[in-house]
Amino acid sequence: MVDSLLASSTYRLRKKLYSAHAQHTRRKRSVGVTSVFWSAGQTLRISFLNGTCPWHKQTIVATACHWLRYANLHFKLVNDGDSQAEIRIRTDVAEDINYSVLGNQSLNETDESMAIGAKLSDPRFEAIVLHEFGHALGMDHEHQHPHANIPWDLAALRPLLREILAKEVDDQEALDDAIEDELATQFLPVPDDGTRLLLPYDRQSIMHYQVRQTHTVGNWKARRNQVISEKDKRFMRLVYPHPCQLRC
Ligand SMILES: [Zn+2]
Repeated sequence: MVDSLLASSTYRLRKKLYSAHAQHTRRKRSVGVTSVFWSAGQTLRISFLNGTCPWHKQTIVATACHWLRYANLHFKLVNDGDSQAEIRIRTDVAEDINYSVLGNQSLNETDESMAIGAKLSDPRFEAIVLHEFGHALGMDHEHQHPHANIPWDLAALRPLLREILAKEVDDQEALDDAIEDELATQFLPVPDDGTRLLLPYDRQSIMHYQVRQTHTVGNWKARRNQVISEKDKRFMRLVYPHPCQLRC
């Protein structure tokens, strides 16, 4: 059985490989690069792209609103299929497909900026929505923090991804290239080059992947975090300060 980490990677790899413009649209993701942040006080419109039922929509938005206790931003649910909305969500994907682009990079996308395949009955639903909206507000993966030092077993991860996709992809060279890109952009640490807002590494962050021991060398593993951590809150307060925070 494919776990959710590999399922999401496989989904992104398929998108890359099957996109006619894959070579042109490939972008590196970066932890907390300030250019992806929205403006403090901004209202972000949220639109669903596929006939999601009202209760499902409201639950996603209500869950996402937990971030607004710490970030000076506003969410506004607008009509379905609004291509002008800053956050555009699909829910008609497989249950283990959940992802979002980073912050205002959504403005460069022509289709959805986020996918939430998790069902309301999934015990991980709230954590998944919080994680994806963390991305939508500009946070990248905490496990890619320059000081995370996770001993990923790339020799094990590469064949796992390749095995799933090898039969359906003709261009094996392109597949290998896409797998390396996926590992670099979703798993490995980003450089500490001074362009990012970096708070100390936090294993409790909602932005940290669950890490299975079978994907690492040795005994390193991390459980799935369920709630916004203290560091996550601090990150949002720093990036999206409320005016009274600045005065007090
Ligand atoms: Zn993520």
